[in-house]
Amino acid sequence: SLLNSLSGVAAAIAGFAVNDILLVAVGGIVGASGLFLTQIMCKAMNRSLVNVLLGGFGQTAVVKGGEEEQIVVREVGVEEAAMLFDSASSVIIVPGYGMAVAQAQHIMNELSEQCEKRNIDFRFAIHPVAGRMPGHMNVLLAEANISYDKMVEMDQINDDFANTDLVLVVGANDVVNPAARTNPNSPIYGMPILNADKARTVIVCKRSMGKGYAGIENELFGYPNCLMLFGDAKAFVGNIVKELSGASAAHG
Ligand code: NDP
Repeated sequence: SLLNSLSGVAAAIAGFAVNDILLVAVGGIVGASGLFLTQIMCKAMNRSLVNVLLGGFGQTAVVKGGEEEQIVVREVGVEEAAMLFDSASSVIIVPGYGMAVAQAQHIMNELSEQCEKRNIDFRFAIHPVAGRMPGHMNVLLAEANISYDKMVEMDQINDDFANTDLVLVVGANDVVNPAARTNPNSPIYGMPILNADKARTVIVCKRSMGKGYAGIENELFGYPNCLMLFGDAKAFVGNIVKELSGASAAHG
């Protein structure tokens, strides 16, 4: 967004050079909006612009008391995950960069339909820096015809996690990493995160124990209320949807 802003400034300068007032005005609007967006994104990451431009993510591991902690995880299968959906009355989906990689947004719509059939309170929690560009998750979910009222911004939904039966994290990692709250040595310490860890049960769908953009371990994966569903988001969420639709058909 900073580069976008600079392109606007360049256009405005070109407008002055060729004496075109329209180009100056349009360049000014692009420059200003890019700067606003840059400021919003920096705030969402709790990092200064200098730190974003010069500081690197990805060099520090989760280190507490000098030793890297080994995270022990619990795995869940598709059938068990579908059963958790069946017995939940409130569900929040946390989409992240992995949903974009897997192109799993359309299957999210089908999951939403299955939850609607079961009268489950079903919403998406949108972190401002989830994905790799501003508004990345909103664009993908809107493309999949998910209604805007189902996409809830972080500040509006964060207090609701504690009263939520089930959270499904789909290809997100850094935006749900509790180290941002608990570990002052972490490079993401201070970044506002989605409180997925506070829900009764959390299922994290990702392919491996691979790290996110910040390059750090996620202690959430080892929490007692967290279950790992290892696999590609589109394929595995698709399998959950198949289980749920099979169960609906069986119930008539
Ligand atoms: P992350 O980058 O933290 O994590 C993405 C996760 O997706 C990975 O851990 C990866 O795990 C998983 N993944 C990749 N492919 C798949 C797949 N096919 N199926 C399932 N999972 C998959 O993403 P977040 O959205 O949580 O966080 C965004 C990060 O990007 C933040 O650190 C933010 O600061 C940064 N950022 C955001 C920008 C923005 O404008 N939004 C711009 C620049 C940076 P695995 O490999 O195990 O599958």
